[in-house]
Amino acid sequence: MAISEFALIQRYFAERTLQRPDVALGIGDDCALLRVPVDQALAVTLDTLTAGVHFFPDADPEGVGHKSLAVNLSDLAAVGAEPAWATLTLALPEADEVWLAGFCRGFFTLAARFGVQLVGGDTTRGPLTISIQAHGFVPERLALRRDGARPGDIIGVTGAVGDAGLALAAAYGRVTIPAVHRPYLQDRLERPEPRIRQGLELRGLASAAIDISDGLAQDLGHILERSGAGARLSADRLPCSAALAACLDREAAVTAALTGGDDYELLFTVPDQRLAQVRRLAADWDCRYTEIGVIEPVPGLRYQWEDGTPYRLTGHGYDHFA
Ligand code: ADP
Ligand code: MG
Repeated sequence: MAISEFALIQRYFAERTLQRPDVALGIGDDCALLRVPVDQALAVTLDTLTAGVHFFPDADPEGVGHKSLAVNLSDLAAVGAEPAWATLTLALPEADEVWLAGFCRGFFTLAARFGVQLVGGDTTRGPLTISIQAHGFVPERLALRRDGARPGDIIGVTGAVGDAGLALAAAYGRVTIPAVHRPYLQDRLERPEPRIRQGLELRGLASAAIDISDGLAQDLGHILERSGAGARLSADRLPCSAALAACLDREAAVTAALTGGDDYELLFTVPDQRLAQVRRLAADWDCRYTEIGVIEPVPGLRYQWEDGTPYRLTGHGYDHFA
């Protein structure tokens, strides 16, 4: 490497991160020393992005930096945790400083927005891979888990679903999207917005939550399985963006909304007696809030159009090993 490993860590990571008062020791020693608030649980999550699997090798590095942190913050949001720290493992084929500078711009801009300090990591040579562990705080009894959905709970979702999946399908040449919709859809794929605020506000209100990474239907399936319940969804109510609706016919738009991956929206369930409060909070959100169905006692996921006729889903969500 043209630049030494230690100079690289210093220049691109140690000097770029913000400093939090709960970090006793950050980058530069054998371990970071971190202070967890006494009354809170430490929420920990890890996600890896590999070139050629999770992003195109020639993807804009700034977007890669943003997304690799965003998908982890999205997991924190899904348990209602407040972000605090991150560690970063970076495998680089070479010390490409142009790539690193772009990556850091994306990573640290997002980290600063959510007050996240980079406290350590590992840097090696190897096929381009980014692995991030994010840490946050949540009072244990308020954590949003997957196992709390009960029959009668209303199913809510933030934002719009299917956009990132459509952008990916277009990148693979499976669909053509008109030029006017490309910037929006590409942005939805490359720069997901972690719904941290929504996760925090849903503490103590949502009975279950998950972030949608592998498609709404599959991820709702995880809540249903863990909660021992089923659900009925209204196909007409799925929140599709104007771009998605313009690119696909009604049936295909519903399939994209249910199976497209990489949405990073929050999917959650709300008991009837807390619904009014969630609606009041959601009225202030900077993203859409949509109620798309209801939890039922009978296991399985059922769909219907508003007129009562059933909708049959044929595709399914993303599975790395399928
Ligand atoms: P060690 O050999 O003791 O594991 P390293 O030489 O790998 O330490 O790392 C030196 C310091 O730099 C450590 O504090 C480590 O956490 C930090 N570090 C290394 N790579 C990264 C990275 N990609 N991002 C943030 N911190 C890093
Ligand atoms: Mg060491």
